[in-house]
Amino acid sequence: MQRKELHAILDEDFISFLQQNSLYDSFSKGEIICGFCGDTITLENIYAIFYTDGYRFCCDKFGCAASFQSR
Ligand SMILES: [Zn+2]
Repeated sequence: MQRKELHAILDEDFISFLQQNSLYDSFSKGEIICGFCGDTITLENIYAIFYTDGYRFCCDKFGCAASFQSR
């Protein structure tokens, strides 16, 4: 049986995370991109945040979410 994990991130949590890590400026300039496909991360498509040699972000495209799950 496969265990499913939800990585739903609340907008407010995501924004405070960005502010705490001095990433909010980059985010508002569209410089935060998905670590898998390179698309700009927005509040609409943020799927997950993970840490690999710095913070990386994952958008909610099926392929990226799958890569995130199996990384
Ligand atoms: Zn992506």
